[in-house]
Amino acid sequence: MRFVHYIAILIGLAACGVPEAPKSEAGRLNIYTARQYTSDQAIYAAFEEETGIRVRFRDTSAPQLLESMKTEGASSPADIVIAPDVGSLWKFQEAGLLQPVTSPRLEAAIPETFRDPEGHWFGFARRARIIVYDPDRLNADDISDYGSLAGETMKGEVCMRSSSNIYNLSLMAELIERWGEDDAAAWAQSVRDNFAREPQGGDTVQIQSVSAGECAITIVNHYYWVRMMTSSSSDQRDMAERTAIIFPTVGAGTHVNITGAGVAANAPNRDAAIAFLEFLASERGQELLTGPTKEFPMVDGVPLPDGLESLPEFIASDVPMLKLGENQSLAQQLYDKAGWK
Ligand code: FE
Repeated sequence: MRFVHYIAILIGLAACGVPEAPKSEAGRLNIYTARQYTSDQAIYAAFEEETGIRVRFRDTSAPQLLESMKTEGASSPADIVIAPDVGSLWKFQEAGLLQPVTSPRLEAAIPETFRDPEGHWFGFARRARIIVYDPDRLNADDISDYGSLAGETMKGEVCMRSSSNIYNLSLMAELIERWGEDDAAAWAQSVRDNFAREPQGGDTVQIQSVSAGECAITIVNHYYWVRMMTSSSSDQRDMAERTAIIFPTVGAGTHVNITGAGVAANAPNRDAAIAFLEFLASERGQELLTGPTKEFPMVDGVPLPDGLESLPEFIASDVPMLKLGENQSLAQQLYDKAGWK
């Protein structure tokens, strides 16, 4: 019975194009990634070229990867887990699916705030959660931080995506850390009361809603706005150009999240996995990771992707990424209590 089950899993995995071999294979690396960007394949190709290590990858949502790895257990072929948002990485870590890694190169390249103190995951790109607003309807002087969306004057002016979205959960996790639970809950309630409409769509949709006049203010990850501004489509550019941005502060600076990665707990190819993480921290790895997506490089001295140089200087919040993971479930509770769908 057990054997039949095992075969079924193998067939299932093979059907999804997933690596079949749980055993170590010289010169191989199996990546599980929740970043569904085809541009990431250029990173894998460059790593193959530089090291001779053949990369196989599986890209699907973080919850699906998490469930797969739980099911696969010790026979999981995954060597690396990549996820946008530390909230996701935290869930892999909590489930015991990542292992601690010590690497002097990674520790030198990546600031402490942006990696797990025990080395279960490291941040390789930064993503700022910024305010996008309609400059015809709102005055820049009236918007300073995330709290501005909760003000009385914003009634009917706010568009937001759903509260179960990991970006919003991590933002709330930081607000809890900065302001305490009561003030964070009050913020969620006031913002929810200011909605122009119920949450719908992703970050790009929020920008489009502001541009179309459906609402006057929203919160999105910076790269969605930059991609619209640098789009080859003049419609997209026009839409973004009708809006303006602000890097809001909370405590010391703007809420920043990461694209991060860690070595799988049962990685068959551990050395190759660490080599891949170190490649992501190299200048070439950083450029390939952030160039197409318009994320901010993590490593000092790496050139900014096109379109980021015109953004205002900002200070990134220094709240440890670890806290964003720890506060995830409380964050969802506070949103639910506020009736923020
Ligand atoms: Fe995104």
